[in-house]
Amino acid sequence: MARQEGQETETGGKRLGPATVAIHAGPAERRPGAPVVAPLVRSSTFHWSSPADGGELLYTRYGNNPSQASLGAKLAALEGAEAALALASGMAAISMTLLAATEAGDHIVSSRYIYGATHTLLAHELPRRGVTTTFVDPIDPASWDAAVTDRTKVVYVELPTNPALRVFDVEPARRAADRAGAILAADVTFATPVNFRAAEHGVDAVLHSATKYLGGHSDLIAGTVAGSRDLVAGVAKMMKLYGPSIDPEAAWLLDRGLRTLPARMERHNRSAHELAQWLAEAEGVRAAIHPGLPSHPDHAVARRLLTGCGGMVSVILEGGGRAADKFCSGLELAAPAPSLGGVETLVSQPRYTSHAGLTLAEREAAGIPDGFVRISVGLEDVEDLKADFARALSLAGD
Ligand SMILES: *Cc1c(COP(=O)(O)O)cnc(C)c1O
Repeated sequence: MARQEGQETETGGKRLGPATVAIHAGPAERRPGAPVVAPLVRSSTFHWSSPADGGELLYTRYGNNPSQASLGAKLAALEGAEAALALASGMAAISMTLLAATEAGDHIVSSRYIYGATHTLLAHELPRRGVTTTFVDPIDPASWDAAVTDRTKVVYVELPTNPALRVFDVEPARRAADRAGAILAADVTFATPVNFRAAEHGVDAVLHSATKYLGGHSDLIAGTVAGSRDLVAGVAKMMKLYGPSIDPEAAWLLDRGLRTLPARMERHNRSAHELAQWLAEAEGVRAAIHPGLPSHPDHAVARRLLTGCGGMVSVILEGGGRAADKFCSGLELAAPAPSLGGVETLVSQPRYTSHAGLTLAEREAAGIPDGFVRISVGLEDVEDLKADFARALSLAGD
């Protein structure tokens, strides 16, 4: 079947570290002459005539093409999960998981602070298929228990949140899911498996937009789901029917990106923290937001839950929307563009992108006043980024 099982991630009884797993997990042929890097297999179909041929029927829409299969094995090993599957996009991973977990009459409890398309899926699309969602404030630990019913099949969280970078304990959501007999699903795109060990925190369905940090180079669209063999088999069944399998070339590129994920995250974590500290003191900046700063409301939770505070930083500029426009257009290294998680530094204003559908009052209530700029801190030299930001801040203040 399309699901892929995790490889051995131990040598001599010792558990391998994430940087080693990111490079070596997955099948590796070591005979002389074998390629060190697994080749990209583009074939849509594979020789097979009857069950007498043995093995499973391979077909690229089934997600079991060798380039897709070896990626699934590596993802499972990285997440510390039984199985994992890559799909055509983050939204494909999220929607196929929700379709697999629910049927008409079922109910979902979700954090209110989630990716825009996921919100639309839960609030407007799934209700057309008889599945309803109650949205709750994830910062209030009592909200989960109050919202679950005996029809709840999924408890859904995203962390850290976008763009306020809130971090909250998943334990209350886990307990509510247990009480309802539901699965806990978490979109941990912003954290990555390097900064948050979701499966170890009781997350049943670990979801990522691999378009972001996992790919890491802003050159592919993909999504992943990891969990138990049964859960991943259920998602693979939906993928086979609805069709959003990952293209082999994207799978191959994603595998390449994963090999440097732990190394990249170490630097994203360090650079974002340093830049956040610098921005907090910079002229024209009202507030810098990063879970690694003691001023962040969830600093203590983040230190307990995360092994790194991530590469995202948000700022609120003193001069409001006009200053933010000037700041973004004044940058020479960092570039205004939506999306995140690549080697290059990107900036965006949520009022034009993720939160364009809200009124100013609604955005202010969500902690996103005009003047709010989200920064995906890339891997450039931090001193160069500071110089670029200093120049753009001085233009914004004029
Ligand atoms: C980008 C993103 C998604 C959607 O991923 P795609 O790969 O664009 O489909 C989902 N969740 C989060 C948190 C994201 O940042």
